[in-house]
Amino acid sequence: MADQHTTGLIHHPYQAPEGFEAPAPGVFKASTVFFPTVAAMRSREWKDKTAYTYGLHGTPTSYLLEERLASLEGGKQCLLVPSGLAAIALVAQSMLKQGDEVLIPDNAYGPSKTLADGELKAWGIRTRYYDPMSVEDLAAKISAQTRLVWVEAAGSVTLEFPDLAGLVRVCKRAGVPVALDNTWGAGLAFQPFDLVAGEGIGVDISAHALTKYPSGGGDVLMGSVITRDQGLHMRLKLTHMRLGLGVGMNDVELVLRSLPSMALRYRAHDDATRVLARWAQGQAPFVQVLHPALEDSPGHAHWKALCQPQAGGAAGLFSVIVDPRFTQAQCDAFCDSLRLFKIGYSWGGPISLVVPYELETMRQSWPAHLAKGTMIRFSVGLEHVDDLRADLAQALQASGLLG
Ligand SMILES: *Cc1c(COP(=O)(O)O)cnc(C)c1O
Repeated sequence: MADQHTTGLIHHPYQAPEGFEAPAPGVFKASTVFFPTVAAMRSREWKDKTAYTYGLHGTPTSYLLEERLASLEGGKQCLLVPSGLAAIALVAQSMLKQGDEVLIPDNAYGPSKTLADGELKAWGIRTRYYDPMSVEDLAAKISAQTRLVWVEAAGSVTLEFPDLAGLVRVCKRAGVPVALDNTWGAGLAFQPFDLVAGEGIGVDISAHALTKYPSGGGDVLMGSVITRDQGLHMRLKLTHMRLGLGVGMNDVELVLRSLPSMALRYRAHDDATRVLARWAQGQAPFVQVLHPALEDSPGHAHWKALCQPQAGGAAGLFSVIVDPRFTQAQCDAFCDSLRLFKIGYSWGGPISLVVPYELETMRQSWPAHLAKGTMIRFSVGLEHVDDLRADLAQALQASGLLG
């Protein structure tokens, strides 16, 4: 060898030990993958997982995460993308073209609406917003141009729980594909492809921000798009390939590392959130507390019907509406006074978070089932619930909301 320090370092003699079985899978990274011959290169298939061709189409590490996520959500195929929002955008770009129409629930994840009102509109794709709490409203809005319906359970920020099976039935009857943003349920609260036992009713596509519970660390951005139908998967996969939506294998490794503890973490977030939401109901400044497991929260009966016979999960989010006699500045001061709850977007990590929202700017109109006032959303982390409750109580005192 002419130069140990160049060639010698590149063509190193390392080989993975035979029979090396360990808890964590190996992390395989590649842009280039070698083929033994040109004939092998020509014949190798990138569209299924029988072979490797190029890093953008996956490595053993990403294949493994895809398989685990598909089985978690009860699907058959999975595509990984760089963020949850990229998963939503991939579905839109694959399913819609100029002249088509997409229906989105009015309480959908905000950036999904921004994408619809921005790029989708510019590409000649029309969006109509429907009332997620009304199956009739969705049925009435499906037209001959509708090519995709989004559903989300629970709704973003306001956490209403829709009649998911009812909404999906309407789409099936109309022959329109239905995509779920399954970030809240995470494959744990309910099975998106089997909403009603024995009825075979389920969504066609499940998009998931792995950034939240699957990552669990507040340090990874990733999304997935899961399907059960091979034809639909292939349509999404071709778009995925043409857009070049790859993910980094170090990030895939982090998600694989977090997956084994996800169900335990989800349960811990869920238990603490129920305690805090119930406590919040007894606090005078809060005129409404939104959490699907609370009996008077909008859509509670739908949550119970769907999630209770399954794992019974309700995730780690709750929102409050603050009495409108308090100003925005007082509500902001309440958020600023919190010590354990940090001010920040996203959720699913170990640290509790708080964000005030202006509902007027997020909805077509103020829904009748929501009280008037300032909306504050809490994402409950993994701290001890007594400490979190004490933090909320001291911030109510400190900000003058109790006075
Ligand atoms: C966070 C979130 C997303 C987007 O995930 P990112 O990885 O942050 O892009 C999509 N849908 C819902 C419901 C979310 O909460």
